[in-house]
Amino acid sequence: MARYLRCWSRTIMSVTFLFFILAVGWTVALPTMPEKHLHVGPGGVFKIALFADLHFGEGEEVDWGPQQDVNSSKVMSTLLHIEIPAFLCSTMAWCWTILSVTYLSLLFRFIVAVGWTVDLRTTPEGYLQVLPGAAFKISLFADLHFGENAWNDWGPQQDVNSLKVMSTVLDLENPDFVIYLGDVITANNMAIANATLYWDQAISPTKARGIPWSSLFGNHDDAPFEWPMEWFSASGIPQLQCPASRSSYSGEQHCSFRGTRRLELMRNEIAHNTLSYSRAGPKELWPSISNYVLLLSSSNDSKSPVAFLYFIDSGGGTYPEVVSRSQADWFQRKSHELNPDSRVPEIIFWHIPSKAYEKVAPMLLFMSSCVGSINKERIAPQQAEMGIMKLLEGRPSVKAVFAGHNHGLDWCCPYKKLWLCYARHTGYGGYGNWPRGARILEITSQPFSLKSWIRMEDGNSHSEVILSS
Ligand SMILES: [Zn+2]
Repeated sequence: MARYLRCWSRTIMSVTFLFFILAVGWTVALPTMPEKHLHVGPGGVFKIALFADLHFGEGEEVDWGPQQDVNSSKVMSTLLHIEIPAFLCSTMAWCWTILSVTYLSLLFRFIVAVGWTVDLRTTPEGYLQVLPGAAFKISLFADLHFGENAWNDWGPQQDVNSLKVMSTVLDLENPDFVIYLGDVITANNMAIANATLYWDQAISPTKARGIPWSSLFGNHDDAPFEWPMEWFSASGIPQLQCPASRSSYSGEQHCSFRGTRRLELMRNEIAHNTLSYSRAGPKELWPSISNYVLLLSSSNDSKSPVAFLYFIDSGGGTYPEVVSRSQADWFQRKSHELNPDSRVPEIIFWHIPSKAYEKVAPMLLFMSSCVGSINKERIAPQQAEMGIMKLLEGRPSVKAVFAGHNHGLDWCCPYKKLWLCYARHTGYGGYGNWPRGARILEITSQPFSLKSWIRMEDGNSHSEVILSS
C-alpha cells in the first residue's frame, strides 16, 4: 500500500512540475518567438523572390484588366521556373500545381468579365397607390449624414437635431411616401463595424409614423473610414467599438473599421422593415446597388400607372461617382419595356447631380428661370457622363430629376423638356449651416401634375414650382 501511495505521489508531483515548467517556460518564451519558421533546404541555399506591385484585379469589367492579370502571372511563372524559390514551392510539382490553379482561376474570371450577359426583369420592383380623391405626396430627405464623430458631443447632438427636422416635416406635411436621397450616414466618420445602427436611426421618424419609404445611396454611405490624425498621438489608437456578441457579428475578427458595404446596408433595411420599398437592384449592376423602379398607380385601378419612379445609384464611397454605361442600358431596357410609348410620366432620383446640372446652374437665382432659395456653391457633378442623360433627355415622359449632394443649392431649373432639381439639405450632419428643410413633391393624376415646394424646419414653406408643364 505504502509503495502504491509513494508511486502515486511521485507521479502527481512529476506531472505538476511538468505543468509548472511548461507554464513558466511558455509565458517567458512566447513573446520572443517569431511567428513562423522557414527552413533552409538540403543544399544549404535559401532563395527569395520578391514580387512587387502586381496590382491584380484591375478593370474587371473590361478586357484589359483580366488580360493584364494573365500577363502578370506569366511573368511570375517564368521567374519561378528559372529561379524556383524554396519557400514558394519546394518541388517542381508544387510549382506547377500553384501555377495551373492561378491560370485556371484567371481564365475563369476573364470569361466571366468579358462574356457575362445582362438578364433583366420586365416588371417594376414595387407598387404604390394614389389614395382616392387625393394627391400623392412625397418628402425627400437628403444628406442627413448620421453617425458623425460619435466620440465627441457634437456628433450625437446633430443627429438629434436631424431627427427633429424630419419629425417636423413629417408632422406638417403628412406625406404618403418618403425618399431618402443618399448620404443617410457619414460612413467615413464612423468608427464602428456595423453602420446599420445609424441607418436605422435615420429612418426611425418615418417608420414610427407608419409611412412607407425607399432609399438610395450617396457617396458617404459606404465610404471607407478615415482615421483622424489625433488618434495617432502618444496615447495611441483607441479601442475598437465592437458590436455586442449577440449581433450577427461573431467575435473579434469581424470587429474592425472595415465599414458596412452598400449591399449590407440595403439588405438590413429591407429585411427588418416591411414599410421599406428599397431594392438591392439587379446583381449585374453591383456594386452599384440602389437601382430600381417603383410604379405609382391609380387608386381605382392598380394596373393603371400614374408615374414610374426611378432610383439610380450615382456611386461614390467605395467606387467612382458615376452612373455607368451598364446602368444606362438597364434604364433604357426597363423604360422601354414598362413604358414603351413614353405615355406614363417618369421621375428620376439620384444623389450626385449629372454634368447637365452645370449647364443650367444660374449665376443669379432671382434673375433666372430657376426656382429656389439658395445658390451658394458650385455644382459637384458625377465624374463622367456615360449616356444616362442622353436617354433621359430623349424620353418626353421624363419630367424631372432630383439630386442631393450639394448642400448649398436647392433650386429647380428647366433643362430641355425636363427639370433638374436639387432637394434641400435635411440633416445637421455634413458641411454647411444653411437652415434645414425637405423638398416635397405632390403628384396628381388625370390629368398628371407634379408640383414641388420646400418645407423648412421652422414650419415655413417656399419655392413652389410646377414641374409637369
Ligand atoms: Zn452630403
